[in-house]
Parts: sequence; structure tokens; C-alpha cells
Amino acid sequence: MTHQVAIITGSTSGIGLGIAEALAKQGTAIMLNGFGDDAQIAAARARIAATGAAVDYCAADVTSADAVAAMVQQAQEKFGRVDVMVNNAGIQFVSAIENFPLEKWHAVLATNLSSVFYATRSVLPLMRAQQFGRIINIASAHGLVASANKSAYVAAKHGVVGLTKVTALETAGTGITCNAICPGWVLTPLVQKQIDAIAEREKISNDDASKKLLSEKQPSLQFVTPEQVGALAVFLCSDAAAQMTGSSYSIDGGWTAV
Ligand code: NAD
Repeated sequence: MTHQVAIITGSTSGIGLGIAEALAKQGTAIMLNGFGDDAQIAAARARIAATGAAVDYCAADVTSADAVAAMVQQAQEKFGRVDVMVNNAGIQFVSAIENFPLEKWHAVLATNLSSVFYATRSVLPLMRAQQFGRIINIASAHGLVASANKSAYVAAKHGVVGLTKVTALETAGTGITCNAICPGWVLTPLVQKQIDAIAEREKISNDDASKKLLSEKQPSLQFVTPEQVGALAVFLCSDAAAQMTGSSYSIDGGWTAV
């Protein structure tokens, strides 16, 4: 097996934790990253350790290029190599363009897009030396199509899809691949906040707010699960995916088919 060591940003929660667990089940050593209190981080570590895989944690804020470089170095020192870089950390902010706070614009772009650039430039020298690497960028259906009131998020995720293509071109034929995964709605804390906002605004239950959210975008009317995204990431790390690079893979219950 070639994918022995993986860094997954934003893996203390949601999709990132699902991907970390799926890779750990393959025997991949995992560098966890993300915010959270001590109990949340200990719980994430325990979930990975339960698979039998080696695990470490780095608190790097992915909006800092230096912190991301230090995280890559920590993984290299701890595990001896870095085979898989999953750029997953992300935040959302919802507002019309005219009212979109400037600091939120910068925070969404820094967390969802610049972080991917920082991690890519930090891992590429290691991956080139190994002649092997898998870079997986967690974009979104919003990397392919837009929704109103999500200007920063949609711009950042379209940017991630573009950066994925450039990374693929610059690494073609080197043993390194770079792809994006574009999930539709996955029930995680990031989406629960949006469901809570609908429930409060429309004075409806959590269940009804979930159905409303799904029915607006996701024809299957079912949430994607972190485990399903994890399984796709595992496939993209496999030898079968060695010639898959520069592409975006939707996992969205039909969202972008319309
Ligand atoms: P989440 O809120 O459950 O998890 C986000 C993770 O990112 C957490 O671990 C958090 O601590 C971490 N994080 C946030 N800012 C960070 C920073 N500056 N430095 C380091 N870590 C940071 O969200 P999620 O739904 O699991 O989202 C994960 C990714 O998937 C995001 O990029 C999101 O845009 C994308 N996505 C989510 C959905 C969905 O429906 N949930 C759909 C498409 C794409």
C-alpha cells in the first residue's frame, strides 16, 4: 500500500473526521487537525486510534501559511513521509453581497481557499521526492454551481476547483495526483447551523427545516454521509485512481445534474 501517511485539515469534526476514519481503516497513519475543546480532540483521536492506525494531532490554524508548513513538517518528523494531503477545513457565512461583512469575506477566502494553496506548496516538495502523492481538495457543489447569499463560499470553492486543475497540470506524470470532491448537503455542524437558521426564521421544526434545505437543492432528498465522502477519498488514494487527476467528483444526490 502506497498511502501510508495522511494529513486531513479540519478533521476534528464532520466530513474531515469521516475521511480520517476511512483512511485509518486502510492502515494509514493520520495527522488530525482542526479546532475544538480538549474533549472533542480526544474523542477524534480515540476514533482513529480504535482502527489500530497511528494518530497525531496538530492545532494549526490553516489560515496561516507558516502554521500549515509547520504541520506538514510535524507529520514528516513523526511518520517519516506524507502521502496524502486532504484539504478539508472550511467555514461558511451567509449574507447578501451588499451586507456581506468584509472580515467574513476575508475569513471565508482564507480558510476555504488560501489554506489549500498553503498546504499544496508545503507538501509538493515531499511528494515529488517520494514520486508519490495524493492531494484531495474538499470543494463543494458550490465549486460548480452557485447559490444566492453565499458569495464568498461560492467564490472560494470555485477557486478550489481551479487550483485543483493547476496542481494536476504541474504534477502530471510525477506520481502525484490532485482532485476535488464536491459534496452536496452532508449533515455536519456546518450544515446544522443553516438548518437551525431556517427553523428559527420560519418557526418550523428541525425535521421540517432539514426537509426544506434538502428539497431546495438535493433531488435525492437524503443527506450525503461523511462515510460516503471518506470512501471516495480512499478510492482516489488507490492505485486504480493513478490516472485520475485534475477532476472534480460530485457526490451530491443529483444537485448538480439539474
Ligand atoms: P464542520 O464545521 O463539521 O468541520 C469543519 C472543520 O474545519 C472543523 O474541524 C473545524 O475545526 C475546522 N476548521 C475551521 N476553520 C479552521 C481553521 N482556520 N484552521 C483549522 N481548522 C479549521 O464542517 P463540514 O461540513 O465537515 O465541512 C468540511 C468541508 O466540507 C468544508 O470545506 C466544507 O466547505 C465542505 N463541504 C461541506 C458540505 C456539507 O454539506 N457539510 C458540503 C460541501 C462541502
